[in-house]
Amino acid sequence: MKKYLLAPGPTPVPEKILQVMAEPMVHHRTPAFKEKVGKAIEGLKYIFQTKNDVLIFSSSGSGAMEGAVSNVLNPGDKAIIIRGGKFGERWGEIAEKFGVQPLYIDIEWGTAVDSADVEKLLKENPDVKGVYTQLTETSTCSVQPVKELGEIVSKTDTLLVIDAISGLGGQEFYMDDWKVDICVAGSQKGLMLPPGHAYAVVSEKAWKVIDKCKQPNYYFDWKKYRKKLAANTDPFTGSVLHVKGLLVAIDMIKERGLENMFYQYRVLGKAVRAAAEALGLEVYAHPSCDVATAVKVPESVDGLALVKILRDKYGFTIAGGQAPIKGKIFRIAHMGYIEMFDIISVLSALEIVLHELGWEFKWGAGLTAAQEIFAKEYKF
Ligand SMILES: *Cc1c(COP(=O)(O)O)cnc(C)c1O
Repeated sequence: MKKYLLAPGPTPVPEKILQVMAEPMVHHRTPAFKEKVGKAIEGLKYIFQTKNDVLIFSSSGSGAMEGAVSNVLNPGDKAIIIRGGKFGERWGEIAEKFGVQPLYIDIEWGTAVDSADVEKLLKENPDVKGVYTQLTETSTCSVQPVKELGEIVSKTDTLLVIDAISGLGGQEFYMDDWKVDICVAGSQKGLMLPPGHAYAVVSEKAWKVIDKCKQPNYYFDWKKYRKKLAANTDPFTGSVLHVKGLLVAIDMIKERGLENMFYQYRVLGKAVRAAAEALGLEVYAHPSCDVATAVKVPESVDGLALVKILRDKYGFTIAGGQAPIKGKIFRIAHMGYIEMFDIISVLSALEIVLHELGWEFKWGAGLTAAQEIFAKEYKF
């Protein structure tokens, strides 16, 4: 059976990338490889839309999240953490592990924070060192108002720290223009690579805080990476395969252009939302992000069975909900190497499975809604 990977990470890896990652091993300290690292850093600057320092780690995305706490915040420091999903919670778990004093803004899952609430809490606590949130909160498929937060936080001494692990390269984002101080990302979502690379971009304002931080770090000591990466090398034996794959991904992204990519995923998201509504279903997140869509499972339908049947019987891997929304939503990714006809295929399978589970709708209603949008708006 043909398999389709449409979960919000890991995402499908293009054949061109898989090919270079299957080439014979190279040594990580050679001039030829250092040149590749230099190109990878330049390419990442384009994708993040930044002139700041880019750090590359061989870890999953959470390694860069951990570093964005442990290099910045001392025990007892205050940080504002926006919690409205699993990954917002992860910022909190990391902060608590490092003895940080979190000031939580708990928002309803699937919603965006009101930036005025952040502004108010910052005013009450001018000693807060960082505001931590997600660009796209993948567990709910919501998008956070990063640009607005940048306007607010940049007027203070506080740092704005953004987890763009699922958003980078798909959701509109301009790190420098939006005044973000630290941004982290991972390889296995919008960047179309296998899991195993993480990235952090660090502003001058953030380096000043990092230089003074006393928290112990070894593998994720960002100062060590800064020094080594300035010479296009890694403090350790980083994944040479990911660097090679990343160069191909960067070429693909540059060829299409970042703005065109933002547009394309926005259209994919619009089509999935229209399809869900045409099937009598409700979109979970408001506002919904452009890189994945969460849809509520109706009371009468078994949400766990829906995801399982799609995968085991029809070969489509999508994602369900986590923690309090387990079984209550399903999530379809439209990031990275996921295109219009992948979405058409999964929507078609979705209709078949919804029918099997007793949900009533007009056959093809979801597909038709998506096709109408694609015919009008999708660009090849
Ligand atoms: C996937 C994801 C993570 C976790 O990344 P790992 O690579 O699994 O460590 C963190 N934040 C967001 C928003 C994500 O989508």
